[in-house]
Amino acid sequence: MKPETAVVHLGRDPAKHLGAVNTPVYRASTIVFPTLDDLEASAEGRHPGIGYGLHGLPTVTDLQAAVASLEGGARGFAVPSGLAATTLPLLALLKAGDRVLITDSVYFPTRRFATNHLVRNGIEVAFYDPLAGAAIESQMTPNTRVVFTESPGSLSFDVQDIPAIAEVAHRHGALVVMDNSWATPLGFRAFDHGVDVSVHAGTKYLGGHSDVLLGVIVCNEAAADPMHRLWTDMGVAVSTDDAFLGLRGLRTLAARLDRHQASATKVATWLAGRPEVHEVLYPALPGARGHELWKRDFRRASGLFTIVLEPSCTRAGLAAMLDRMRLFRMGWSWGGFESLIIPTDPNRARAVSRFEAGGPCLRVHVGLEDPDDLMADLDEGFERLGSAR
Ligand SMILES: *Cc1c(COP(=O)(O)O)cnc(C)c1O
Repeated sequence: MKPETAVVHLGRDPAKHLGAVNTPVYRASTIVFPTLDDLEASAEGRHPGIGYGLHGLPTVTDLQAAVASLEGGARGFAVPSGLAATTLPLLALLKAGDRVLITDSVYFPTRRFATNHLVRNGIEVAFYDPLAGAAIESQMTPNTRVVFTESPGSLSFDVQDIPAIAEVAHRHGALVVMDNSWATPLGFRAFDHGVDVSVHAGTKYLGGHSDVLLGVIVCNEAAADPMHRLWTDMGVAVSTDDAFLGLRGLRTLAARLDRHQASATKVATWLAGRPEVHEVLYPALPGARGHELWKRDFRRASGLFTIVLEPSCTRAGLAAMLDRMRLFRMGWSWGGFESLIIPTDPNRARAVSRFEAGGPCLRVHVGLEDPDDLMADLDEGFERLGSAR
């Protein structure tokens, strides 16, 4: 079965739910047991059914199973946000005295968690150049237990050589965690490339409609036990309404990504030819930075990229352009059906590397609108940018 078929069918069984095509929203905290035997079996972990609503309701377990199986992992854990998905594996896999290496292109709140809370708990945090590849070897130490990757990085779109990094990490006894939100399990099969824990901001393409906050952590066998322990002990659970929206989003993920990629490619190609645009950072574009690695490792791309504007462009010009866009709106996040555009600074938080952009940057999310309308909106925006100079 192709993954594009699997997303439609995985994690649902109408026969278990009165024939309903979609696993319904189950709302339950207390689960009652018919006999003392059953109650005692549940307390001892021998009962086959669910014991309490915190973990194990079918709406959530179906989502976890579907995403894990789609990506080829052993076990999935749903959490209430993408940020919880990036941070909890670090807590599960690291202890005082250990060291974690984190890509310098990492999603900023993941960096903030590491420097604020891992460090406070006696875990060494070091950053590495996202383009290091096998050269990460020079930064491995005996206490390095985790290498955290994010590819492409969500501001500068550096594509990491994940197989090379994984080879070095494993040789030194470290596990590889990857934030795979941009590509989704359909675009990058993380476990085929040596990743041990793949995390997703389900808020983005999985949900797909900018109306749910969700994260999914997928582990291989080696990481599943410590992750399960922490996830259970911390009482982290996802509401079944949110899990339902995640499952529903999953059904159209392939169709939406097809459209996001086709439109993004069209818009990015057009942007690359504009005089206002210095460079387009979209790995799916031939000639773009990271394109060769993307072509080697990825099955598809999504609709998010950055453009570098000519250095002459001013703050006033940007405001004139962005304040009056008709279709592209300004807002954090991405992955919904709607187009977004925001100024971005890929160097904002970098500690050990610099991204040489050569001009101010805009991050663009190409939504499901007609790409011709999107280009017309951008065209008028560039007009305003030019006249405000
Ligand atoms: C948005 C995002 C997250 C966090 O997701 P939330 O659900 O908003 O917490 C994590 N990683 C990346 C790369 C993201 O873009």
